[in-house]
Parts: sequence; C-alpha cells; structure tokens
Amino acid sequence: MEFSILAESFNKMEATRKRLELTQFLVELFEKTPHDVISKIVYLIQGKLRPDFEGIELGVAEKLAIRAISKSSGIPIKKIEDEYRKSGDLGHASSIILEQKTQTTFLVEDITVERVYETLFKIAKLGGSRSQDMKMKYISSLLNDATPLEASFILKILLGTLRLGIAENTVMDALAIAFSGTKENRKKLQYAYNVSSDLGKVAETIATKGLDGIEKFEIILFNPIRPMLADRVKSEGEAIEKMGDEFAAEYKLDGERVQLHIEGDKVALFSRSLENIESYYPDIIEKIPKNIQADNIILEAEAVAINENTGEFLPFQELMHRRRKYKIEKAVTEYPITVNFFDILYCNGKSCVELSYKERREKLEKHVKQDEFAKYIPMSIVKNENEIEDFMENSINAGSEGLMLKMLDKPYQAGSRGSHWLKLKREYRNELGDSLDLVVIGGFFGKGRRTGNYGTLLLATYDEDEDTFPSICKVGTGFSDESLDQLYQILHPKVSIKKNPRIISEMEADVWFEPELVIEIVASEITLSPIHKAAKDVIRKDAGLALRFPKFTGKIRVEKAVEDASTNEEVITLYKGQKKIAHEKNLM
Ligand code: ATP
Repeated sequence: MEFSILAESFNKMEATRKRLELTQFLVELFEKTPHDVISKIVYLIQGKLRPDFEGIELGVAEKLAIRAISKSSGIPIKKIEDEYRKSGDLGHASSIILEQKTQTTFLVEDITVERVYETLFKIAKLGGSRSQDMKMKYISSLLNDATPLEASFILKILLGTLRLGIAENTVMDALAIAFSGTKENRKKLQYAYNVSSDLGKVAETIATKGLDGIEKFEIILFNPIRPMLADRVKSEGEAIEKMGDEFAAEYKLDGERVQLHIEGDKVALFSRSLENIESYYPDIIEKIPKNIQADNIILEAEAVAINENTGEFLPFQELMHRRRKYKIEKAVTEYPITVNFFDILYCNGKSCVELSYKERREKLEKHVKQDEFAKYIPMSIVKNENEIEDFMENSINAGSEGLMLKMLDKPYQAGSRGSHWLKLKREYRNELGDSLDLVVIGGFFGKGRRTGNYGTLLLATYDEDEDTFPSICKVGTGFSDESLDQLYQILHPKVSIKKNPRIISEMEADVWFEPELVIEIVASEITLSPIHKAAKDVIRKDAGLALRFPKFTGKIRVEKAVEDASTNEEVITLYKGQKKIAHEKNLM
C-alpha cells in the first residue's frame, strides 16, 4: 500500500477534531487498506508500532532526526533548527525544508506503508553503541524517497509527536462501519478489544474473518485483559441498596494492581494501564510459579508493600521506590511486598471471565496455593450494614483503604466500570466525598525552598467526548520536599515546547507538559469558575468547574493512564452531590 495514501489521510485528520469527521476519514482509509496491512495502519494511527503492552518504543531524539533531515536534503543543520524553532513541530518544519531541497534525488523506490513500518520497527529494535549511526542511516534512507508530506508524518511517528486525537472508540466505530456496515456492531469489537488490548489484532480479525471471527475471539495468554473497574459508593446503606441481600466484601488494598499471565516458568506482569511491569517485580516472577497448580493461568492481584516485621500493609507510595531502572534487587529487599490475589480470568486454556464471582473465587483458591508471599485477598460474605461496618473496621486496621464489594453471581466485565463491583473508601466520608485523579498539564516554577522545582502544578480532568484535558485547578499544597523532587524528575522530560492541542486552558503556565502523568488530589469543594475549562457550559453558560483548596495527597498515580483520570462526568456528579447535601442541610 502506498504510504502517500496514509499521509494524505493523516493530513486531513490533523485538520479536524470532530469525531464524526474523523470516523468518516478512517472508514475511507480502511476501505482502501489491504487486509494484510490493516493492523499496521491501526497502530500507526495511534503513533505506535505495536500494542502498548509490548513496550516497543521508537525513542528517536530530535537532534538525530535533524541530522538525518540534513543528510538526506543537503540543507545545513542550522537552517533546519531555525525552521523548527519557528513552527515548534519538527515534522511540519521538515516538510517546509524539504520543499526547498537542494540535493536532487531520483525517486528510486516507492515508499510503501510496509517499508515505512518495517524500517521504523528496525529503528525501534536497535540498541548498543553503533545504534545512532544505524538509526540515522535508516531515517535518511526513508526521507530520501519521501515527498515532503510523507516525510513530515514519518518524522512525527518517529518523534512520538503524531497526535491525531483519535480515541480507540473512534477507531472501533470506523472498523464496525467499514467491515460490517453499521456502527451498531462496535460492542462486539469492544469485547474483542477488552480481552486482548490489541486494536491491531481486532482490526485484522474483522477485516479477514468478519463479525464471525470477532464473535469467536478468545482470550490470548500473555496479551493483557483490560481490567474491570468499580463504581464508588459513599455509605454502607448505599451499598446495600445497590448490591441486594448478600454479596462479597474484600479488603481494598492500597497497592499496585498486577495482572499475572503464567505458563510453566514463563511469567508476564501487566499494570492497571497494561504496561509491562516485570522489571519492578523480579520477586513475583521468581516465586509465584511455584504456587500455581495449573498448566496456564491469568490472575489478578494487588501487590502491596508490607512491614516485614509486623506484616502490616504499607501505603502505595512505598511501591514507588521499585520504579527504577537500576539496583532493583536492592529495592526488592528494602521494600518487600506480598501478592494478594483477588481474581482468576483464565485457567488451563479456558476463559473464566463468564463465570460468576463465586465460581471464580473457588477456582482461584483451587489453583493457587497460599504462603508467606502469596495470599488470597481477605473476603467475607456480608448481608447487612453491621457486617459491612465490622469488616471495614478490620480492613482499615490492617492498613488498607476500605472495601471492594462484589456481586456473587456476576461475571468479570473486562474493560468496564460498572455497578457489579463497588468501592467503599473511608476517606469518602470527608468534605468533597472523594479524591480525584487529575492530569498534570502545566507547571509554575517555585520560589524560596522550592526554587528549581515546579512549586505549583496546573491540573486537568479528562473529557471523554472530546478526548481532551481541560484545566480544573492549580495545586501548590500537600507537597513534601521528597515528592517535589520526585515530581520534577518525572515531569521535566515531559516539558513540551508548544502546548499540546489536547490541553484546554486559558491560564498560562510557565511550562507545558505532555499530558502523561496522573496525581491524586483532595479538595474542599467544587465551584463554578470563569477561568477553568472542566465541564465548561454544562452547569452554567461560560463557566467551567474548579476545585477549591485542592491538596496533593502524596499519591503519584504512575499506574494510571491519562484516559483513566477523573472525567468531566465524575466531577459534574460530585458537584451535584455536594449541592444536594447543602440543600438537605438547609432543610434540617
Ligand atoms: P482508585 O482510584 O480507587 O484506586 P481506580 O480508578 O484505580 O480506583 P477502581 O476500579 O476505581 O480503580 O478501584 C479498583 C482498584 O483498587 C483496582 O484497580 C485495584 O488496584 C485496587 N484493589 C484493591 N483491592 C482490590 C480488590 N479486593 N479487588 C479489586 N481491586 C482492588
């Protein structure tokens, strides 16, 4: 397939943010795509080469790309840098530069999607001392044969700056329309995606095998399943109302969710956002296979830091010490954990997601042995408010956050947040009623003790409809010196020259970050705001929602993707909730 078709399509997509238009462009593109390249096209649309969980990163630095442009065009580096500075986008700058190309080349080889993809793949796989030269060679060979428009998109993919603003749901809508004639079949694609986390594979299946293939789609060992999530409730009473007569209550441990795929000694570990996290947990890889009594298995557990002497659970932040590239063995001994299993999704070649909670828990206890390191999450069947309260008390005393309440007869709903699982946290009973997970979009330099750090951060919610990050507050309290340093280390590499178009903010920050990090915030109230953009125009025209007295809780939610941050919808619900409480208080 000619790469020019893709480049032209990307060019049109870049010019719009409207979901319907994007869907239409995608449908047209998919209809022109041969079936054997459709998975590649789907990855490239998202600026990727493979699904996230495979961890394949292009990692090409701007400097190297500039050298490659210079080499293939004969234009001096300085001139390219000047053009880059003007537009702030190297892909765009390169297309302008290449229009003025001094070196004439004959278009010796056609640029195809396959060739671009394979070359990018080789670049991603390169490592070692000679890798920079080889990368240069590969990039300039592609640029040599590319038109300016093609070159601009090749560079954007290479640098990780291709941002078409296309959400996964939009891709699935377009696939359903292109290959089954109607958007209605999106749900079926959604299931396949939820159990494989691989949109490329879903696309290939519907293109080659049609809906029939999608309906027969099965869980694939070592492909992560998108996690089931819980709704929140504020009180025991509300829980009883929603869950009925009898249900399971489990400790809600404050650790990191880990999905384990095991076959013999082979183990893969995925985080909540489906990142591969094996390198942080060598102890799990080493020890857990011994506890498994099955040929193969997919399990979910909460890895929790513990005090080795008392066995007490420690807060999530302790696990942050394991998120490092070097000296992980030292961190493993200094920050010991236990693995607390709560679900089984696959066993001996068969899916378990259709089984009820009760059946899954039994299966879990049958196929996983407990010991000092591996435990089942404490569970109790509860029937009334008193029983929930008692179990909550035990849970809090053991150092956990609260309870997870689960319906006994319901299946595991991959990739969805629903009412079959509820979470009841102790902290919900304070002020706003909940903490929020917000995206860090901007920073302000600190003064005094905070000089050299970002003393204040600008935060945003996630707008699911627009796939954007509208601002909701500035936060400057709750930071310890250690957390300020830690945040600086994480955020500094995310500084971007230009504000990412997905950020919606009227407030000007000192620096803009690529929206990639989520932190946890508590606040006293949600108010209407003329400045902030979260849920703008929903409650009142020309006003957004903002947080009053926001405070950082100390939790850097590295395990959360930005699309998992608190949404506008959630903030609106909290806003309406506090109005209701205020109204009830006035009546009393
Ligand atoms: P939160 O912000 O409350 O941690 P979340 O958005 O990460 O929530 P939720 O579905 O709302 O995800 O809460 C479930 C999370 O709680 C899981 O992702 C998991 O990490 C953790 N957890 C702790 N104990 C349990 C348990 N017994 N069952 C399921 N999840 C548990």
